[in-house]
Formats: sequence, structure tokens, C-alpha cells
Amino acid sequence: MTGLLPLCYILGSVSFIMGLKMMSHPATARRGNGIAAAGMALAILGTLFLYRQQGQHLRHYVWIGLGLLVGSVVGVVAARKVKMTSMPEMVSLFNGMGGACAALISISEFRHQGVAGPFVLAGMFIGSISFSGSMIAWGKLSGHIKDVAFKGQHFLNNGLLALLLAACIYEGFAQNLLMVYLIAGVALVYGVLFVMPIGGADMPVVISLLNSFTGVAAACGGFLYHNPVMLTGGILVGSAGTILTILMCKAMNRSLLNVLLGSFGGGASVQGGPVGGAYKELSLSDASVVLAYAREVMIVPGYGLAVAQAQHVCHELEKLLESKGVNVQYAIHPVAGRMPGHMNVLLAEADVSYDKLLEMERANDAFPNTDVVLVLGANDVVNPAAQTDPSSPIYGMPILEVEKAKLVVVNKRSMKPGYAGIENQLFFQPKTSMLFGDAKSVLQQLIASIKENG
Ligand code: NDP
Repeated sequence: MTGLLPLCYILGSVSFIMGLKMMSHPATARRGNGIAAAGMALAILGTLFLYRQQGQHLRHYVWIGLGLLVGSVVGVVAARKVKMTSMPEMVSLFNGMGGACAALISISEFRHQGVAGPFVLAGMFIGSISFSGSMIAWGKLSGHIKDVAFKGQHFLNNGLLALLLAACIYEGFAQNLLMVYLIAGVALVYGVLFVMPIGGADMPVVISLLNSFTGVAAACGGFLYHNPVMLTGGILVGSAGTILTILMCKAMNRSLLNVLLGSFGGGASVQGGPVGGAYKELSLSDASVVLAYAREVMIVPGYGLAVAQAQHVCHELEKLLESKGVNVQYAIHPVAGRMPGHMNVLLAEADVSYDKLLEMERANDAFPNTDVVLVLGANDVVNPAAQTDPSSPIYGMPILEVEKAKLVVVNKRSMKPGYAGIENQLFFQPKTSMLFGDAKSVLQQLIASIKENG
């Protein structure tokens, strides 16, 4: 390495760490992404033009340039065109590409050096699983592939995994090229079988797990090439993916094993104590009066708001109420919606100010001083059974304690349950009123009604 290259790598590594830190807040996330991308560009350019092996430059610049060009064009076009609701699919697709890269690096290194060391084997094994698993995840999220579960599937999967580990240990001694291809092939099959039975709505957790696999596989490449920036990038992706997976499981009060065995969500039937009784309905005009005359309004967005694409009209209602002297804030549950940070991303798209978004703890402190809570297409994240019913599958999941407010207005289309498949006692409480209809159209009508009443 020439003297400048290590500097490029150090700057690249620092930019990844800074970028990741900045991504933890919506206000700095965009800049953080840009900084990390610039660091990656510096590391790539440094490697291309400053790297020397036995005094020689890299060769094959035309091929490398073509690869960079095709990858950059496809990446930019895909990222620009993707809809907010299709983001998990794209993350999955890109993650799969990372896994494939790591696996191919391992295979080509074995072909060059003829040695299948631990990093070659781990990169190939983990990268292959990440690639095929991510492709299946992409297919399921985009509706091209259905859940496939059969009896004994978990037994088969565990058997395959044990076989793969044994084959890797054997290959460590045998150093056989054919065996390398065989391990890669079986790892690809394992990736498919591993993701196939997992319920559609659990996909975000699985994608985050596969993301951490890709990070580990890339870090193996960093060890192989003694490349510090690849190592830093891989370790950051691996650890961030693992932490995100754990946080999502915690926020849903489920173990990772429970997610991987697919026993919750995706239409599975679940237990829960009996609920029911009479519920109150509110008319649109009453709802508009209640909102317009409140001092403090808290909006609780959920999956239904995302489905209805009602974020812009929701922001419009917020501005209208604020112009009437009402203080409007948003209560954000960490797993509201179907992907991590779903509500933050959605509301940011509609230009809702970050200062108005309250995280769960702060929102729960604010509810006692709130006049009206407007729940928009949220269900599980406001279900009190999580605190009161030990037999409920969501028992222990932290929730937004909306019933502490003076009045709760719930907008959804029917009395049907949410993702967890359980009823919600909140809807039957005396201070709750139901406002049925599609979130977007209800919000539009609320705005019209408030304007009409002056
Ligand atoms: P839920 O899925 O619990 O509830 C959404 C509600 O929205 C439904 O009850 C539905 O009722 C209503 N709805 C659907 N479409 C519309 C519409 N067009 N207009 C108005 N309402 C609509 O969502 P929550 O956000 O409360 O909870 C998220 C759930 O997803 C949690 O259980 C969480 O664990 C899970 N999850 C979250 C992940 C994440 O990372 N965020 C990842 C994986 C799972 P109706 O049909 O009657 O309209």
C-alpha cells in the first residue's frame, strides 16, 4: 500500500461510523447517508488508483469501470423510482447482492490461492444463505412468492444447517474445489428453505437478520484481503443488523426463534382473552368539532395510515388544526407499521416536522394532558391487552397508553383485528369512539368539515 491508501481507508471507516450515528435521527439521516457514501467512494477510488501489488497497479480497469457504471446506474434509478411502501423489497434485493458479492469473493479467492481457510468458508457459506434468503424475501414482499410451509420443515432446515457446518469443517482439512461448490449450492438451498415458511408480515425482522449475515460475510472478505475499510463496513452492518433484529423482536415482545418458526402474524390464529361489548360510533361532524375545539391533540399513526397513503392529508389536517390554535403532535410506536421506522419515514415524506414526533416514552408521559387522541389505522400498538392480559400474544409488548387521554377517536375501516389477529379492548372503552372509513377519505372529510364550520 502507498502512504495515501491507508489514509483513504481510515477516512472511509470514520465516515461509515459517523454516517451510521447520524442515521439514528431523522433530521441528520440524509446527511449521514451522504457522508457514508462519500467515504465508500473514497475507499473505492483509493483502491483502484493507489493500491499496488508487487509494485503493480490493478489491471482490468475497463471491466471494473463497466461494473461500476452499470451498478451505479441501476442503483440510482431503482432508489429514485422506489415507492416508500416498497422500501423493504428494495433493501432485501440490495442486501442479497451484497451476500452474493461476499460469496463470489470467497470462491474466487479459493480458486486463486487454492486454500479454503475459515474466512473463505464463512464468507461463502453466510453470503450464499444471505443471497438466496434475500431473494425469497424480496419475492414474498413483492407478492411473487407465497409462504410455503410443510410438516417437518424446521427439522429439515436444522438438518441441512448441521450438514453444512460439518461439510465446512471437513473442507477445512480436505481443501477440495468441488466441495467448495457443493457447500455454496447447499447453502443457497438452505437460504431458500429458511425464509420460505416465515409469515409475510415477519419479513422486516428476517430482512434485518439477513442484513446482519451480509455484514458478517463482507467482514470475512475484509479479513481475507486485510482490508480495514471492508472490515469496518462489514462489522458495522453485521452488528447494526443484529441490534435492529433484537430491538424489533423486543418491541413486538417476541423471541427471534418465535419469528423464525413463523408462529405469529401472517394470518396465523392466536390466543387472547375474551373481549367485546358495545362500542360507540362518532359522526364526522362531531369528530371535526371535537378536534377543532381541543387544545392538545395527539395523532397515533399505524399501518392503516401507510396503506391508505394518508400521510399528506394527515399533515394537512395538522396544519389546519394548528391554524385554529390546537397543538398537534404525533405519538410514534417503534413497530407501528410493517418496517422499522415506518411511521417516521412516512411522515417525513409528508414534511411533518421532526419536533412534532414523540417517541413512545415521551408520548406516554404526554397522554394525561392530551384532550383528544386520533388513532389513524393503528391497532396492536394501542392494545391495552399488552399490559393487562397475560394470555394475550402481545402481553409484555410496550404500547402507547392512549386511554390515559381525555378522549380517544379511533379511525379504521371495521372492527377487524390488526396484525397480531387479536381484538382490542380499547375500542369498547367508555372514552373511545370509533370513526369508521378509509383513513385518507376520513381525513379529507374531516378537513372539509372543519373548514365548513369555520
Ligand atoms: P396493525 O396491523 O395492528 O393494525 C392496523 C389497522 O389498520 C388494522 O386494524 C386495520 O383495520 C386498519 N387499516 C387497514 N387499512 C386501513 C385503511 N385504509 N384506513 C384505515 N384503517 C386501515 O398496525 P399497528 O401499526 O398498530 O401495529 C403494527 C403491527 O405490525 C404490530 O403487531 C407489530 O408487531 C407488527 N410488525 C411491525 C414491524 C415493524 O418493523 N414496524 C415488523 C413486523 C411486524 P381495518 O381492517 O378494520 O381497517
